[in-house]
Amino acid sequence: MSDTNIIKDLKSKGLKLNNSRMQILELFLGNHRSHSAPELVELLKMKMDRATVYRNLNFFVENKILDQIQLQGETPKYELAALEHHHHLICKHCKKISSIQSKSLENALETTTNEIKDFTITDHVFEFYGLCKDCLNNEE
Ligand SMILES: [Zn+2]
Ligand SMILES: [Zn+2]
Ligand SMILES: [Zn+2]
Repeated sequence: MSDTNIIKDLKSKGLKLNNSRMQILELFLGNHRSHSAPELVELLKMKMDRATVYRNLNFFVENKILDQIQLQGETPKYELAALEHHHHLICKHCKKISSIQSKSLENALETTTNEIKDFTITDHVFEFYGLCKDCLNNEE
């Protein structure tokens, strides 16, 4: 879904987008942007207080506008729920998250889940941990 469609969709659901909600949402629009709550507090510190950031984050999660990304031993990050199905590549060093969409991965997962007989799988989460290009270059 494109950014303008996301905004339209929210309005059609009757969700009120006041100024602070718009300012938070804008930080997520664009190509696979994700932020943790403390990052948002920092990014928005000139515009709103911490309590406002947290209150609106909860609002967005409850209304399924943002999804929480759970990370091994890290503060959870948030991203737009309307993004297409994808998987995360998480840098263990700088914590940057990028995304991949892979037909062959989905096919492999489907083959595997088809072999499972007494459990119905409705969704999956699969994340890759490693080092991003920048961190890898700095290590050399
Ligand atoms: Zn990195
Ligand atoms: Zn993502
Ligand atoms: Zn998948």
